[in-house]
Amino acid sequence: MTSVDTRQPLLLGIDLEDVRDQLPNGHKFQDRLKDNVSVLLDSLAVNKVKGTFFTVGTLAQRHPHLIREIASQGHEIAAHGHNHTQLTKMTPAEFAADLEKNIGTLADAQSSKVVGFRAPTFSLTPKTQWAYEILAEHGVTYSSSVLPARNPLFGWPDFGSHARVVSKNSGVLEIPMTLHAKPLPQVPLAGGVYLRVVPFALTLWSLTRQSHHTPITTYIHPYDVDTAQERFMHPDLNENKMMNWLMYVNRDKALYRLGQLMERCSVGRYCDWAADWRTPSQSG
Ligand SMILES: [Zn+2]
Repeated sequence: MTSVDTRQPLLLGIDLEDVRDQLPNGHKFQDRLKDNVSVLLDSLAVNKVKGTFFTVGTLAQRHPHLIREIASQGHEIAAHGHNHTQLTKMTPAEFAADLEKNIGTLADAQSSKVVGFRAPTFSLTPKTQWAYEILAEHGVTYSSSVLPARNPLFGWPDFGSHARVVSKNSGVLEIPMTLHAKPLPQVPLAGGVYLRVVPFALTLWSLTRQSHHTPITTYIHPYDVDTAQERFMHPDLNENKMMNWLMYVNRDKALYRLGQLMERCSVGRYCDWAADWRTPSQSG
């Protein structure tokens, strides 16, 4: 008899990028990427879970063997922009060219078809929803690119909390970020800086308040677990010193917290959940 896993479903997303690429002269700082990825892969292996690595194309060009290694461990490789350029900074034609390069590079590095996408800094909003048709033209079937709240950078406040197809022409399934339960502030429940900064008891409380009909979605970056990274101003923060300080807070707690989520939830890859969503069980 097989036992049914009644735990809350959680889709584990790792945004695979090297922030140094987005800084002028960023490569004067130490390259810590492989060490950080190795720490994350070990943690996933210990917890016996598979996740999705939303991967920047230029990083995959530089480290094809690393991408191959991640894929060989059963994790999904998905797209995260060739140059990590926000959708608002591109025309549709520029986005199409960027995506084509991103997917081509990921396809060169490993053998599985790329079907998933995450917009850099959740820059998929009502203004950039033209992106869905371009995603479909490139074989992408799901996206996890919407932050369904008001946010200093980007947000789509009235998107709602459930996965759905926004653009019927494209058929692309959008799986939005999971937010904290109200009355807590509407910020991501299990994403990078928020996983580190919000008191963890509140994160666990929010976890118990989520519907089991939609998965918890997550994002974490290699730098979120890096306790030895040099101090520098991170990109896309408008030089805000307070926000940059938060980029370094509680990095020594990130792995433990991620481990707790992996223990408490039924963790999986985005591509598998998206495929199941399209073929609901006949039994019920
Ligand atoms: Zn990113």
